[in-house]
Amino acid sequence: MTSIVLVGAAGRMGRAVDLAAAAADDFEVKARVEREVVAGTPGPGGRDAGPIVGIDRLGELLSPGDVAVEFSAPDGCAAAARACAERGAALVSGTTGLDADVERAIEAAAKRVAVLRAANFSLGLLALRRAIAAAVGRLPAGWDVEIVERHHRGKVDSPSGTALALVREVARARGENDPQVRSGREGRIGPRPAGEIGVHAIRGGTWTGDHAVLVAGPGESIELRHVVEDRAAFAHGVLAAARFVAVAAPGLYNLEDVPPPPGRTG
Ligand code: NAD
Repeated sequence: MTSIVLVGAAGRMGRAVDLAAAAADDFEVKARVEREVVAGTPGPGGRDAGPIVGIDRLGELLSPGDVAVEFSAPDGCAAAARACAERGAALVSGTTGLDADVERAIEAAAKRVAVLRAANFSLGLLALRRAIAAAVGRLPAGWDVEIVERHHRGKVDSPSGTALALVREVARARGENDPQVRSGREGRIGPRPAGEIGVHAIRGGTWTGDHAVLVAGPGESIELRHVVEDRAAFAHGVLAAARFVAVAAPGLYNLEDVPPPPGRTG
C-alpha cells in the first residue's frame, strides 16, 4: 500500500487523483493539503474526506516511504520539493509554468529523494510523443511543424507545458538544440522562415487538454492529435508514477522512466 499526501487537494487535478486513488486497491490518501485550511471538504464519491490542512503543515505530515502528489502552483511545488527532501518522502509533481528558482528547488530535492515531474501525465500523450519522433525523423528537413494547443479558460500559463515538451520532441527528432519558436503571427511578417516551430494557444470553455502537431510538406500534411476528455487520463499516469517513485532511488525522473504495463514493450 502506498501512502499519498495530496498537495492542491481541492483543485481539479487534486480531486481527480483522489478519485483514482480511491478506486485503486494499492493506495491510501493519508492527508490532503491546500494553500489554506478547508473544513469538511467532500472527498471521492461525496463522502467527507476530513479537513484539508494548510501547506505550512506539509513537513510534519510526510514520512519516509510516502509520496507527495503535487498539482497546485509554483510556490506549492517549491514547498513540496523542500518538504519531501527534508522528510525523505518521494514526490510526483505536475504543476506547469515553473520559474528557474522552482526548477532549482526540484533539482535539489532530487539529490535526496525520488522526484518524478511531467508536464503531461497522460499515457496517450506519451504515445503521441513517440509518434511525433517517428514521423518527423522520417521526413525531409524542409517540412514545417506547427503545434496548436487548446485549454480551458482558467489556465494561467501559455503555451502549455505540454506544447513546450512537444517542441523539444520535434527538435530532438530533427537533431536541433535550440529550436526557433514562434507564438502567433500578425501583420506583414513575410514568408514563414524555414525551421521555425509555430506554437499557438487557444483558451476557452472547458477543454481539458488538446494538442495537435501539424507537419506540412509540399502537397501533403500530417496531423497528429491527442485529446484529453477527462482528468482521469492524467490521474492514471500519476498513480503509475507514484508506484514507481515509492521504490525508486533518489533522482529526477520523467514519465518515460516508468516501466510499461506488463506484457507491453514501451
Ligand atoms: P486548480 O486551480 O484547479 O487547482 C490548484 C489547487 O492548488 C487549488 O485548489 C489551489 O488552492 C491549490 N494551491 C495553490 N497554491 C497552493 C499552495 N502554495 N499550496 C497548496 N495548495 C495550493 O488547477 P489544476 O487544474 O488542478 O492544475 C494545477 C497545476 O497542474 C497547473 O499548473 C496545471 O497546469 C497543472 N496540470 C498539469 C497536468 C499534468 O499532467 N502535468 C495536468 C493538469 C494540470
